[in-house]
Amino acid sequence: MSKVVKFGGSSLADANQFRKVAAIINADPERCYVVPSAPGKRFSDDIKVTDMLYTCYDAVTAGEDFAKSFAPIKERFNGIISDLGLTLDLNEEYEKIGVNFKAAAGREYAASRGEYLNGIILANFLGFDFIDAAKAIFFTNKGSFDDDITNACLGAMLDKTDKAVIPGFYGAMPDGTIKTFSRGGSDFTGSVVAKAAGASLYENWTDVSGMLVADPRIVENPAGINIITYSELRELSYMGASVLHEDAVFPVRSANIPINIKNTNAPEDAGTLIVPSEQNPAAEHVITGIAGKKDFSVISIEKDRMNNHKGFMRRLLQVLENHGIFPEHMPTGIDTISVIVNSHELEGQREKLAQRLKEVIKPDHFEIIDGLALIAVVGRGMRSVKGTATRVFAALSHANINIRMIDQGSSELNIIVGIESSDFEKAIKVIYNMFMLSEE
Ligand code: ASP
Repeated sequence: MSKVVKFGGSSLADANQFRKVAAIINADPERCYVVPSAPGKRFSDDIKVTDMLYTCYDAVTAGEDFAKSFAPIKERFNGIISDLGLTLDLNEEYEKIGVNFKAAAGREYAASRGEYLNGIILANFLGFDFIDAAKAIFFTNKGSFDDDITNACLGAMLDKTDKAVIPGFYGAMPDGTIKTFSRGGSDFTGSVVAKAAGASLYENWTDVSGMLVADPRIVENPAGINIITYSELRELSYMGASVLHEDAVFPVRSANIPINIKNTNAPEDAGTLIVPSEQNPAAEHVITGIAGKKDFSVISIEKDRMNNHKGFMRRLLQVLENHGIFPEHMPTGIDTISVIVNSHELEGQREKLAQRLKEVIKPDHFEIIDGLALIAVVGRGMRSVKGTATRVFAALSHANINIRMIDQGSSELNIIVGIESSDFEKAIKVIYNMFMLSEE
């Protein structure tokens, strides 16, 4: 069985990091397919190669000299090559890039060269084959990822090699033009490669030892998460806990392949294992994680005998849809409904929306209230335990925090509470303490 290993930019920022990466790959013969990012930051003020490439391309298309603008990028790659003691010469590649920049090949082409060049160096260093993602990862004419063609084509290419490097972040349009995924998209490439290879595991190597139960900027020294299901991960990342590119779970999830988030700088740490929900792994704690976001608004509507007005809900949702507004939650009373939306979706259209809602659904009372924060308390463990909601509410009430909204999904995987934004940090801390410090 093969494993697919993806290394982020900080894992490949310089020659020393390349050596750690090679040691990790060589320690397990099942680590067959490698997906690299472009070199990232070596220190906090450093600039990622991807950002350097965007800047360079913009300068060249504005008339600046290519050789001069590209020099710092060339220096980073040549530095890695010489520090690793490789005989590789990328001059021809640099020249091609110059020609294409001058011919305005596009910002996405420019950005993709970071992964492309880094992939060539890594393949050379490891003695692996190099597969250009432009020949294996495809987009449709409309610019969305083409799952079927990629899976067939990439799968056939991987069948022909035991060990290969496939650069992350980009692929090709049907006409051959290079296109990138959104920022951080190498995570997605890794997932696509794992699916096409029929891998037993997708290892995502980064600079932290996996996910934490809560944001360490809010909770001091939070516990780590050893195992999380795909569904729990979706709930938490939707609410802002970022560990992977948003789309990265989908290809492996559809193929039932687990993901292991690992730390290149501490490879012995177990990291976080993300498994299909059907595996139903035993819960370590009642809750798996807490995450939240600020900047929500409540559209509060009152109308007497709301239930008797046929099509009321449909008309309300239609008005919202026409304004490009997506309701996050919709708690209802008998004659009231609160629609919770992202405040930024209301920007520039509050008056128009209010006007339209008044015309279409004729509410008795209508109001938009800002400053709501949502917190998701997520855990597969809560299904089998009574009193989880009580504990969430008790923690908040002891801290004198007013709950403005409550929602529990029917799968009993999460409890979502809406509170004042000013209570956000305090609420996360007290919920964390309630579940993580009071359990043995
Ligand atoms: N290098 C790209 C970025 O900085 C893609 C990635 O690292 O995943 O966003």
